[in-house]
Amino acid sequence: MPGAALFVGATPAAGWLEDIAVYDDGFVLTDTQLDGALLGATWAELGPRPLPFETSQPLVFAVGDVRSRSMKRVAAAVGDGASAIRSVHTALGSAGP
Ligand SMILES: Cc1cc2nc3c(=O)[nH]c(=O)nc-3n(C[C@H](O)[C@H](O)[C@H](O)COP(=O)(O)OP(=O)(O)OC[C@H]3O[C@@H](n4cnc5c(N)ncnc54)[C@H](O)[C@@H]3O)c2cc1C
Repeated sequence: MPGAALFVGATPAAGWLEDIAVYDDGFVLTDTQLDGALLGATWAELGPRPLPFETSQPLVFAVGDVRSRSMKRVAAAVGDGASAIRSVHTALGSAGP
């Protein structure tokens, strides 16, 4: 079929991440994808759930293709990155733009 691109699967290069919860397929879990069992004692102490794009590791954020259930498109990855900035500002305690 001319002009068709096969996109049958991908392997995330996330094996080097330590102590960060990933789904069965290796993609990084963030925010609402993380339940109590995955969050553990650190988050119980911190209180609030992870911010949007925040991983199971406080102050570590994941955006783009490596994030579990992300759209796997350039525009989505760029949007993730731009949106995650708000969470970074919140985490750092500043209001941001
Ligand atoms: C064949 C193909 C065609 C596609 N066509 C389209 C298309 O037409 N339109 C579209 O919107 N999307 C397309 N996509 C998807 C698009 O490429 C991705 O959604 C987008 O590139 C995701 O951006 P990202 O920054 O999340 O990840 P990436 O672009 O994959 O960037 C991740 C970067 O991190 C680097 N990296 C990995 N591990 C490490 C490490 N340990 N240390 C340092 N660096 C590291 C990698 O080398 C890479 O440069 C296509 C993808 C493929 C594979």
